[in-house]
Amino acid sequence: MTGGGIRFRTVKRVLNFIDGQFRPPCSGRYLPNVNPATGQVISETADSGPEDVDAAVSAASRAFESWKKTPAEERSRLLLKVAGLIEENFDELARLESEDNGKPISLARRMDVPRAVLNFRFFATAILHAETPSHMTDDRALNYTLRQPLGVAGLISPWNLPLYLLTWKIAPAIAAGNCCVAKPSELTPLTADRLAALIADAGVPPGVVNIVHGTGAAAGRALTSHPKVPLISFTGGTKTGADVMTHAGPLFKKVSLELGGKNPNVVFADADLDQAIATSIQSSFANQGEICLCGSRLFVERKIYGEFVDRFVEATKKLRIGDPQEASTEVGALVSEPHLRKVEGYVALAKEEGGEILTGGNRPGNLPERVRDGYFLEPTVIAGLDCNRRVMQEEIFGPVVTVTPFDSPEDAIAYANSTRYGLSASVWTRDLQKAHRVAAAIDSGTVWVNTWLLRDLRVPFGGMKESGVGREGGFGSLEFFTEAKNICVKL
Ligand code: NDP
Repeated sequence: MTGGGIRFRTVKRVLNFIDGQFRPPCSGRYLPNVNPATGQVISETADSGPEDVDAAVSAASRAFESWKKTPAEERSRLLLKVAGLIEENFDELARLESEDNGKPISLARRMDVPRAVLNFRFFATAILHAETPSHMTDDRALNYTLRQPLGVAGLISPWNLPLYLLTWKIAPAIAAGNCCVAKPSELTPLTADRLAALIADAGVPPGVVNIVHGTGAAAGRALTSHPKVPLISFTGGTKTGADVMTHAGPLFKKVSLELGGKNPNVVFADADLDQAIATSIQSSFANQGEICLCGSRLFVERKIYGEFVDRFVEATKKLRIGDPQEASTEVGALVSEPHLRKVEGYVALAKEEGGEILTGGNRPGNLPERVRDGYFLEPTVIAGLDCNRRVMQEEIFGPVVTVTPFDSPEDAIAYANSTRYGLSASVWTRDLQKAHRVAAAIDSGTVWVNTWLLRDLRVPFGGMKESGVGREGGFGSLEFFTEAKNICVKL
């Protein structure tokens, strides 16, 4: 804010967390961080570059020498302490997540913060149960396999589930004995900043976790191309994933990519319609449709198409859109103005492509005063588009869902598989044989039958086709964050 030529700093500055200390970026520059519900700048974020990343990598490399030797029981104890501190600061973290991202506070309380606690608890205890195999070669040799941490893990996470996805990476990385440099999205730095303080309060040694803020192009790329970072865990868009590969590939880094989706949600005529409709409302519009696992393409068996669509549209119209800080709000603001414009662009494109907007498509008119300048869009249902249309092919990542009728399981499978993505799918039917057959035939890393977003942290998680490379989750994460070494001893 300027006044008479004097610049007053009125908002918090989010600094980097390197070697256990909060430090300004080498550039001295900051990026404005906007609350998407109000359009107001609520903080400034360190605009970091290669020098900051280099300092963080050096701190992590130094810390690795002792962290890798720290007994699993002690690492576990520290991670459990972090989980406890997240729980103690539950209300503040939920508020920050909602302010930063625009999501309803009820969702942050129900999903984001509990999951952050769980991520730390899950991997803190998983390392106490991990096993490694041994192989006897007849009576000639004993082989045993060590799983060793790699060193400095580079962790890059997006803005849609900021704390949820950041902790999904930090917890297994450090539980397995690595140190890390994390780069959260510049759009949502606040809970990462708070987490850094909690990690320090928990007594995690300096340098084990470092957080560098800034843009993907500067700080993110400095991490993916840093020669002393042998591993990258990235969650974000497919296009960015390709850039990550381009820079990490020539350095032969171990890379895990969790990318975009265009997930099908298939409803057969024999489904429990009450459940299918209620859950499809969630899978279409939860977090304003900004969850990689949202079902953005609804396919409904023609026999029930009319009834389903009428009821689905009715339920969509009833969703409460408004101030994310209000406990009763169900749909909040989109993360930024450019993103809102991008999503609106797809609504316009749907019309050009011959689609019919059954409900939504506009910015809501009757918002409370506090959030009148926010980036809101009505939940939108579009019908009448062929599967090859751009709106049916490209990830929109907003509160927009298409509905399309189908006639047979084969049609449903073909429609479901008609994009370059393969992240997740839902299938609704009471016929279990059909459920198994269709689920096996859909190209996606996760298929839910008669549910959505039911996550067991032990299961493999990741995408097929252009939705990703590799699987994390459970012991799969611990495998990703360690390297297998076989030792062969002649008998
Ligand atoms: P982006 O790909 O734009 O960004 C993801 C992260 O990568 C951000 O921290 C970003 O930084 C950073 N980044 C951007 N460019 C580069 C680069 N060249 N090198 C290294 N890092 C870079 O995704 P969004 O943040 O827009 O998130 C939405 C996307 O994430 C959607 O496509 C969604 O489907 C996907 N996603 C996938 C999930 C999965 O599990 N498969 C889960 C959640 C989301 P910054 O934003 O600061 O520029």
